[in-house]
Amino acid sequence: MKIAIFPGDGIGPEVTAQARRVLDALDLPGLTLFEGDVGAIAYRRHGHPLPQETLEMARAADAVLFGAVGDFACDDLPRELRPEQAILGLRSELGLFANLRPAAGFPGLEHLSSLKPEVARSIDLLVVRELNGDVYFGDKGERTSAGGREGWDAMSYNEDEVRRIAHVAFRAAMGRSKRLTSVDKANVLETSRIWRETVIEVAKKYPDVTLDHMYVDNAAMQFVKSPGQFDTIVTGNLFGDILSDQASACVGSIGLLASASLGERQTDYGTFGLYEPIHGSAPDIAGQGKANPVAAVLSLAMLLRHSLGREEDAVRIERAVEGILADGVFGGDLGGSASTSDIGEAILARLDS
Ligand code: NAD
Repeated sequence: MKIAIFPGDGIGPEVTAQARRVLDALDLPGLTLFEGDVGAIAYRRHGHPLPQETLEMARAADAVLFGAVGDFACDDLPRELRPEQAILGLRSELGLFANLRPAAGFPGLEHLSSLKPEVARSIDLLVVRELNGDVYFGDKGERTSAGGREGWDAMSYNEDEVRRIAHVAFRAAMGRSKRLTSVDKANVLETSRIWRETVIEVAKKYPDVTLDHMYVDNAAMQFVKSPGQFDTIVTGNLFGDILSDQASACVGSIGLLASASLGERQTDYGTFGLYEPIHGSAPDIAGQGKANPVAAVLSLAMLLRHSLGREEDAVRIERAVEGILADGVFGGDLGGSASTSDIGEAILARLDS
């Protein structure tokens, strides 16, 4: 079993170090770890945010554990050299088209949500976000218009791209409560019209799943009004990016939510994937021991489940995290004073209890 670890920038190395401690504590037989540079640190050391060596390391691994990339000092670099290109490059080069982002309220933490406790308590959803298409990967550029400089980004999805993410979402819904909401903007966007028609076509193969459709503006409103109505959600790259961050605030903190990015490659142990917290490099708190490592630790749990077939270890980690949150081990993001390493320490202690 091989795991490539890419800590990245800002709080990425801090939270990944805690996930690494948990991984070490599991003492998995036959595990080999590699560490590589991504993001601004890779640009400074190698002249590129995603060096070839890092990419090869990812290709040779069964799974990638990713921290975060981003550094405002790189804002003036050409787009292809900015740190964020590392994660976009890994997703596209590795064919990671399906992003799974679970968001569920932690018992006892409802008061930390920006929603009323009884509303926050009802959250238990999974956002399945398409990751290789949409405006993030379409043609883009700058041109001169009558109104001055004009930036443009092309949004598109073809049927094959929608079909493959729809299948992932329907299968995920089958393993949950068999309800799937497809989020689009089909009243305005041609991209969304193709999206919706294709999802309806794929639905015929999953007669046990109840499918409904929602416009993204309504979905954003419903997320804060009554999030309990959602179970599995499938949506495009841009809408999924925004809605899943919104879901995190409903749960309590962006520092709590993990994600898996999967493709089609099968390894000896499961599906190859890249696992990362949904948060970024948080430069405002980097280097201060204030980052919540829970999202990184839960990303490791997802890695063990999906890529290494180690469900028992994944559940063990998830129970440990639930335990420390129930004990009130909170960092600053949750109104407490525990440092990043305090939280890691508490998770380690709970692993064995
Ligand atoms: P961010 O997620 O880094 O931070 C948003 C807010 O949440 C900040 O106030 C931050 O302090 C807080 N926060 C984030 N993670 C936290 C944690 N684990 N514990 C406690 N608080 C936490 O988003 P941003 O500020 O919009 O972006 C910062 C940089 O990260 C940018 O360069 C952006 O491009 C990059 N980014 C990278 C990724 C990625 O690597 N996949 C994702 C999003 C943003």
